[in-house]
Amino acid sequence: MTLQEKDSQYLWHPYTQHKTSQTPIVISRGEGALLWDENNKEYIDAIASWWVNPFGHSNKFIADAIYKQLTTLEHVLFGGFTHEPAIKVAEKLMEILPKNQQKIFFSDNGSTAVEVAIKVALQYFFNKGEKRTTIIAFENAFHGDTFAAMAASGISFYTQAFQGMFIDVVRIPVPVKGQEQVSFEALENAIQHHNCAGFIFEPLVQGAAGMVMYEPEALAKLITICKKNDVLTIADEVMTGFGKTGKTFAMDYVAEVPDMMCLSKALTGGTIPMAITTFTQNVFHAFYDDDINKALFHGHTFTANPTGCAAALASIELLQQDEMQVNIQRITQNHLAFQKKIENHPKVITARTLGVIFAVEIKSDSEESYYGSMRTKLYNFFIEKGVVLRPVGNIVYVLPPYIMTDEQLQKVYKTIEEAIEMV
Ligand SMILES: *Cc1c(COP(=O)(O)O)cnc(C)c1O
Repeated sequence: MTLQEKDSQYLWHPYTQHKTSQTPIVISRGEGALLWDENNKEYIDAIASWWVNPFGHSNKFIADAIYKQLTTLEHVLFGGFTHEPAIKVAEKLMEILPKNQQKIFFSDNGSTAVEVAIKVALQYFFNKGEKRTTIIAFENAFHGDTFAAMAASGISFYTQAFQGMFIDVVRIPVPVKGQEQVSFEALENAIQHHNCAGFIFEPLVQGAAGMVMYEPEALAKLITICKKNDVLTIADEVMTGFGKTGKTFAMDYVAEVPDMMCLSKALTGGTIPMAITTFTQNVFHAFYDDDINKALFHGHTFTANPTGCAAALASIELLQQDEMQVNIQRITQNHLAFQKKIENHPKVITARTLGVIFAVEIKSDSEESYYGSMRTKLYNFFIEKGVVLRPVGNIVYVLPPYIMTDEQLQKVYKTIEEAIEMV
């Protein structure tokens, strides 16, 4: 049997209807921004493998850090024990996070980072004896696939089978250009009519919705409204964190600071699954008590896995190097130039960019669904051309590893231009 045949015999893939989807491509190796399949066909990874890989595949610096940690202390339980790698990650994050973030909690993936934040928001008020059970979230948000994260997510085909089984969530419009006032009023309204504990949002860019963007001033205003009403704010930076928006965190553009932040994806440079939820001292304090019942009874077996911590440390060090910051600026400038070039194309509705994130919406005759026919046509075209891009309906986005060369990036742009002509 071929690997593909064995795959279809044994494996169940994410977000996949196995009856109608094509067999997956077997990837055997990766280096920098490139991937190679089992037949040695080369692909440019233009979406950093679901946004996790800023420094390139098979990065030697991170691999060495992992190997060293694996052969020193691969894992120890984090209940009753601690270790230097976890403490070093915390110290490193304190250097780069907004100054009010002072406590960090480890988990395994973006969904669990969100799950922890939502549970903390709810228990914060429970511990204070206040009845607040509603979470506020944006329309078309994506916060992950576990239950509380799903409840906060607004993309309906991910969650429709589970409607009626969720925690209470009120949804408000995203303050995209022209909708700011509507969004502010919806937030005021939600707070007035529900017992709101927290507001969770993807700061400045909604990734899974198709890189929908809004301005930092609007987000600052929403956070101000929450602060006035003692509603906890949760910045889900799982996608935007670690340089994607051109600053270390999207919140670095915003004049207000959140009460909690969720980090994952690029945290370990795309090597080891790990996530972190960060908190203010004030949030932590609501759980700090002689009463054991006020503690946060949440944990995962691999919490603060030392090997993951070593990978995170190495990744943040890479991010902080001047060379990497130059790369981010270089890609940002390239994206801006490409946006200018294609935004007036007759088949383009709009093109937008922030940092290394770029998205273009292509005109379509029919209402385009998330996994609709245009999406399939585009996806197949890109794969055939050796470029990994996963359009969201009629939206094609690019989120390259920061080390992608200008030449590779130009090939990605050119392939997108060809695709626009083709559909
Ligand atoms: C990907 C993502 C998540 C979920 O992360 P997983 O690791 O896939 O569970 C949550 N929030 C945002 C903003 C994301 O982009």
